[in-house]
Amino acid sequence: MRILVLNAGSSSLKSCLYELNGSLPEAPPVPLWEGRLEWEEPFRNVRLRVIREGQQVIDAQPSIPSESAAAGHLLQTLWDGPARVLSSPAEVDGVGHRVVHGGEKYSAPTLVTDEVKQEISRLAAFAPEHNPAEVAGIETARRQNWIRMCQFFKSQPQVAVFDTAFHHTMPRHAFTYPGPYDWLDGGIRRYGFHGISHQYCAARTAHLIGRDLNSLRVVTCHLGHGCSLAAVQNGRSVDTTMGFTPLEGLMMGSRSGTVDPGILIHLMREEKYTAGRLEELLNRKSGLLGVSGVSDDMRQIISAMESGNDRARLAFDMFIHRLRQSIGAMIASLGGVDALAFTAGIGENSPEVRAEACTGFEFLGLKLDRQKNVESPADCDIAAADSTIRVVVVAAREDWAIARECWKLTRSA
Ligand code: ADP
Repeated sequence: MRILVLNAGSSSLKSCLYELNGSLPEAPPVPLWEGRLEWEEPFRNVRLRVIREGQQVIDAQPSIPSESAAAGHLLQTLWDGPARVLSSPAEVDGVGHRVVHGGEKYSAPTLVTDEVKQEISRLAAFAPEHNPAEVAGIETARRQNWIRMCQFFKSQPQVAVFDTAFHHTMPRHAFTYPGPYDWLDGGIRRYGFHGISHQYCAARTAHLIGRDLNSLRVVTCHLGHGCSLAAVQNGRSVDTTMGFTPLEGLMMGSRSGTVDPGILIHLMREEKYTAGRLEELLNRKSGLLGVSGVSDDMRQIISAMESGNDRARLAFDMFIHRLRQSIGAMIASLGGVDALAFTAGIGENSPEVRAEACTGFEFLGLKLDRQKNVESPADCDIAAADSTIRVVVVAAREDWAIARECWKLTRSA
């Protein structure tokens, strides 16, 4: 069975094709084909990269007339040109889509019907960055690309896998904001994001440390451009750091994470900030970038800090302080912890961040194997043998997690 995974972002389209025969393998397999189109906003400087069976076969800067033509351009390389692995789109058996917002309605992967498509479009408008016109434009383009991707595979079953769904198991005292009760009726509540990653990471952690997920307490740390934590008890999310939007919680590359809402009222009242300006400030000019003035990339922050840049040092120290605080909060929600798992760009690749985050929990008996930590081994337990808490590095594989869900639903469709 061939399963195609599609992931339409605001300035990228990513896709991969898996060949799955018999039962699902435990370890993620290498995709048959992986394609990625990235561009700068507004649509320009497009880069196309395609990997076939682990080997890069295309790295080009194609001229594509508009963003709405991007999906077709990327998918065509599946059956046309040097990266070809199919003779036609008909050879795809099922298609899995990553969908950021499933709202209150979708708590599990769902077969895409016309009704589901409409509901997803409605939720996209409800999704985080919908206020200013320029962002609305990006959202519309993202949605159009998504619909176009659906149309390519009209006769195959298609499955929507939601980033919010995993957090549906949070208890209501964890997902309700302490504002007026009416907020809940209007859908203003905590949803949580990165759910596909947290769910996969928790299951992979259980496997890697040889424990049963159904009796395990894990704090999963997804630290990439966006950063969030989840408290996972017996395979279910009971708490997470992101909320109504991905702005809540940890300090991130260019997003602030949690700040006193009184600051926003102050800026609106005293400096006449509009919703659009606030949105821009909190999403794109804050976090590591805003504090350091150097970059939103942790690698550059660490390198500037090592060359004596004081604002980069402050940004790094704040990132760690907030990370430790929130790990503590997740442990409290779980009533203890068996494992801490690090995933995504920073989580997988930064020994400095992992070491500093763990230092805060030595009082619980957590001990890192310093040598293993420095080597950043993917899918590996990096805790010392006598640590009371296991610490695991998990390679993020959201695409594979989506493919598995799609495989399950496609077989029963
Ligand atoms: P996304 O959330 O967009 O999927 P990634 O998971 O790829 O992003 O994470 C991107 C981030 O990972 C970059 O901003 C960078 O800060 C960080 N990163 C990647 N490699 C390293 C590294 N070796 N050390 C520290 N940070 C890293």
